[in-house]
Amino acid sequence: MFWERYDVVVVGGGHAGSEASFAAATMGAKTLLITQSIEAICQMSCNPAMGGVAKGQIVREIDALGGMSGIITDRSTIQFRLLNRSKGPAMWSPRAQCDKTHFSLNWRAALESTPNLDIWQDEVVGIRTDGGAVVGVTTRMGIDIPAQAVILTNGTFLNGQVFIGELSFQGGRIGEMPATGLSGQLRSLGFVTDRLKTGTPVRVDGRSIDFSKLEVQPGDDNPQHFSFLPLPQLQNQIPCYIAHTNERTHDLLREGFDKSPLFTGRIQGHGPRYCPSIEDKIERFAGKNSHQLFVEPEGRNTCSYYLNGFSSSLPIEVQINALHSIEGFESARIFKPGYAIEYDYFPPTQLGYTLETKLFENLYFAGQINGTTGYEEAACQGLMAGINAVLKIKGRPAFVLTRAQAYIGVLIDDLVTKGVDEPYRMFTSRAEYRITLRQDNADERLTPLSHAFGLASDERMARVEQKMQHTRAMIQAIDDLSVSPSEINAFLESCQSSPLTQRLKLNSLILRPELSLADILEAVPQAGALAQTIPADIRGEVLDATETQIKYQRYIEKEHDVADRILRFENILIPDAIDYPSLQSLSYEAREKLSKTKPKTLGQASRISGVSPADISYLMIYIDRLFHEEHIPNGLS
Ligand SMILES: Cc1cc2nc3c(=O)[nH]c(=O)nc-3n(C[C@H](O)[C@H](O)[C@H](O)COP(=O)(O)OP(=O)(O)OC[C@H]3O[C@@H](n4cnc5c(N)ncnc54)[C@H](O)[C@@H]3O)c2cc1C
Repeated sequence: MFWERYDVVVVGGGHAGSEASFAAATMGAKTLLITQSIEAICQMSCNPAMGGVAKGQIVREIDALGGMSGIITDRSTIQFRLLNRSKGPAMWSPRAQCDKTHFSLNWRAALESTPNLDIWQDEVVGIRTDGGAVVGVTTRMGIDIPAQAVILTNGTFLNGQVFIGELSFQGGRIGEMPATGLSGQLRSLGFVTDRLKTGTPVRVDGRSIDFSKLEVQPGDDNPQHFSFLPLPQLQNQIPCYIAHTNERTHDLLREGFDKSPLFTGRIQGHGPRYCPSIEDKIERFAGKNSHQLFVEPEGRNTCSYYLNGFSSSLPIEVQINALHSIEGFESARIFKPGYAIEYDYFPPTQLGYTLETKLFENLYFAGQINGTTGYEEAACQGLMAGINAVLKIKGRPAFVLTRAQAYIGVLIDDLVTKGVDEPYRMFTSRAEYRITLRQDNADERLTPLSHAFGLASDERMARVEQKMQHTRAMIQAIDDLSVSPSEINAFLESCQSSPLTQRLKLNSLILRPELSLADILEAVPQAGALAQTIPADIRGEVLDATETQIKYQRYIEKEHDVADRILRFENILIPDAIDYPSLQSLSYEAREKLSKTKPKTLGQASRISGVSPADISYLMIYIDRLFHEEHIPNGLS
């Protein structure tokens, strides 16, 4: 059976697939989302939360580009916290506890109201190709659907295998069918697959938890949003709680180690090192007699609690016994056991920067199938694949973000140049330009770029322009205004700040660590009056941006200088036909890795693990000589 032809077919309605579908359809492409279960669109398979350190920055970037994850999160939030507020602004990271049912329903409603987007419940079992390009997909119901571009976002479902102690069965998540057939067909077409694993903790019936024994973790007093668009203030936040394992818990868990699929070798795939199971933590940190657990509500209309930090694939009875040894959980009942899941993924070095595969044109991979873990990491890849699939169809230049422009640029660059050997998640430490890549300026960095190709709306663009205009005016005022000792000394003394001996510009005063912009606005009526002219719905953002830009100006300029220097180096092209094995001056490892990865630029080559600065220096000289001999432009200006 044949169907009408689509511009873009997206396979899988998870975080990557939903963003890809929304972006492609919003940019005007006739788009079809095929997913195994419409009811399971954008499930939060694990933690009912979005954002957190580095991940929060990614959601802000998705929002700035015109994606939906930020808006959906804001519509589903039950508790908001801006993490790391006591550190510098580069580390401020928004995190939202979400109602997981609302999250999924809100995404479904958003997709169903997106023009140009059709949705079909089915399983894709193969792609259709013609020569070196993809031309459509074939489904379990025997339907061939022609398409100009196909984006695969299958998550943890490809040959998914669930493990709970000695029990093991097929599944994409617990209670859901795996996707079988597709990865085998892709292997037969030349793609390489491997296995990874991840895990999740028990879901506890809140009616059986003694919350009086737990430490309460409330939301922020003044909760913010993920989206840069105006939204109503969050009301009625629900608290999270903190609990602790103890030595008895660890002993009880150890009793199940001989039945652990992890320790008995039945799970082959690597798991996320930075998000280990509780049995992993006990094994690795044997000297530690307690681990902190976060008790997180899963929604407003459920009493289910997610026990963050207690992920396990030990037998069910071992998980329950260990749970009962934790203070507050002595009589706990569970809705679902913890489990591990192993699945196929495609090493992402098989992709280019647009997430298009190197093997087949117009075929894109995004999300967990590229070896990442996390909703945010998946969603941003889906967005970028959706955008690029449409740009390519329209014959427009690709949209690639650099490491200096966005965390999304860091993530994709890491994936396609270095590959992964464990599930990849984002950390602030992966980004070289952390002071530039802040959550507060994602809109300034990215909205104009996305507006240019028609994804970010005019409304978004107008808001960014308004914010930037007010920020510039505020910075100018701080630069221009000064205060005399008699005007400010009483105030400075009240803040334990040294008094002035002569007139001083506000831009010098604000550099004092003990003073904030809010203090200055309170003490200097002219500056305070100017702040009041900023529209109330963007005032907070403008003042944060003003303060950060003044206080961190020196560091921001330094980062820009480094980024410019690296960009020059970054863009030196490497000829495709370079024969690495013959370059004996390169180390053996560099020859092997460069032959395999085939980087397009020296910048990419420099980030491949095992390629040393000495290898890069040699390569630079070699390429320069080659380009001069062959008279090929090499990107050097
Ligand atoms: C048990 C478990 C534990 C996890 N633990 C963590 C964790 O601790 N930390 C963390 O950050 N992340 C964790 N995750 C990962 C997180 O859920 C994923 O990173 C994220 O959901 C990936 O998004 P995605 O869009 O790539 O795929 P998914 O959210 O998995 O969505 C894939 C979608 O594609 C559909 N699909 C698959 N194949 C087909 C097909 N052939 N045809 C049609 N539809 C198809 C599926 O039905 C599903 O709707 C965990 C996931 C699981 C399952």
